[in-house]
Amino acid sequence: MKTSSIYALIHRLEQKDGVWFARGGTNTLVKGMVALFERLGGRVELSQKVANILSQNGRVTGVKTASGERHEAEMVASNGDLVQTYEMLECRDYGRRRASSLRRKRFSPSLFVVHFGLKGNFPQIAHHSILFSDRYGELVTDIYDRAKLPEDPSIYLHHPSATDPDMAPSGHSTFYALAPVPHLGHLVADWSELGTKYRETVLRRVRDRLIPDLFERLDTCFHYTPRDFEADLGAHVGSAFSLEPRLTQSAWFRAHNRDDLIPNLFFVGAGTHPGAGIPGVVGSAKATAGLMI
Ligand SMILES: Cc1cc2nc3c(=O)[nH]c(=O)nc-3n(C[C@H](O)[C@H](O)[C@H](O)COP(=O)(O)OP(=O)(O)OC[C@H]3O[C@@H](n4cnc5c(N)ncnc54)[C@H](O)[C@@H]3O)c2cc1C
Repeated sequence: MKTSSIYALIHRLEQKDGVWFARGGTNTLVKGMVALFERLGGRVELSQKVANILSQNGRVTGVKTASGERHEAEMVASNGDLVQTYEMLECRDYGRRRASSLRRKRFSPSLFVVHFGLKGNFPQIAHHSILFSDRYGELVTDIYDRAKLPEDPSIYLHHPSATDPDMAPSGHSTFYALAPVPHLGHLVADWSELGTKYRETVLRRVRDRLIPDLFERLDTCFHYTPRDFEADLGAHVGSAFSLEPRLTQSAWFRAHNRDDLIPNLFFVGAGTHPGAGIPGVVGSAKATAGLMI
């Protein structure tokens, strides 16, 4: 309700061109990009967390990983969280200043995601469904302004085995149920405890609306909380979509693809223009690659 109506273009494009799914899931996209990158001569090192971005005389000179390895570089592009990236910058005063100005901006909410596998097939349930709460404006206010965890969340239900049977073993189906929840800067909660309870809330809503014998069919289940977004991805306050896409944080007002002061430090991904979502981050990657080249 506070976002610029320019974002309604997304709905228009989805109506016009449809919504695309990579057969095999998002991992297939990742694998495809890695294969292309390696074919071009690139090398990917996994499980090497960057701990510091090294700098000298107003330029970045490489990165240091948590295991202590140093890699020199002519340019650095960060796909990590914006606040985290500036906190890692060796150029401490500037990094701290930038991180603290970013922390004052508004961040998108987090998500609570329950992944589950069921015995049986559900041809009547589409690949994508939204189970709307009876409340709309009030629900959004709970999440964005009141820091309240809704008992009646709107749920996006993902059912990829509806169109891609390889996503589940034969005779089984795979789903995730996604509920937007306040981020950790608003709702400070012990998600290790709360997560188990909220998972029941979400699953009960799917049961009541769509799959009456869900609990009897449940074969496997795990959940992902705002704390996991923070711990696994370094996401500031566990936000799932980085900076909130309001007018004053969009386009030129979002983080620039090249840092304003350090000419060889670049950014890419959800916190930059145009913003979160796979088409958005691929667009930002094209823009950043263009600048670097
Ligand atoms: C459950 C869910 C469903 C979604 N569904 C859709 C959808 O249907 N369609 C759509 O368009 N979008 C969807 N999105 C949004 C989309 O996935 C994100 O907007 C997009 O992945 C963001 O891309 P990114 O490159 O900015 O960040 P990420 O994809 O999070 O990539 C950042 C990478 O950087 C790594 N990293 C972070 N810090 C460091 C560090 N210090 N050192 C080394 N590596 C680091 C992380 O491990 C991560 O791999 C969904 C998101 C979620 C959570």
